[in-house]
Amino acid sequence: MIEKSQKLECKKCKKEFLVIEQESALYKKKSLPVPSNCPECRRETRNNLRNKKQLFERTCDKCHTSLTSTYPADSEFQVYCEKCYFDYMGGVL
Ligand SMILES: [Zn+2]
Ligand SMILES: [Zn+2]
Repeated sequence: MIEKSQKLECKKCKKEFLVIEQESALYKKKSLPVPSNCPECRRETRNNLRNKKQLFERTCDKCHTSLTSTYPADSEFQVYCEKCYFDYMGGVL
């Protein structure tokens, strides 16, 4: 049996990669686009996304200055702006 496979060029590293028939059939079935990056680049992108810390716009829990935090506004963590944080730490130390 000859497998029909598409030869595509990775948009990122310009390397050629194969998309075998079963794979493209699967994309079609799930109405997903055929990837434009080779498997290595796809893996890399996934890793980058996972490692990237998301930043959220929120306000200081004390003085309500807007700031960016790695915690979303609805997280249980108290987030203080730099000034309030140092005030708070200064009070503790
Ligand atoms: Zn690539
Ligand atoms: Zn503050």
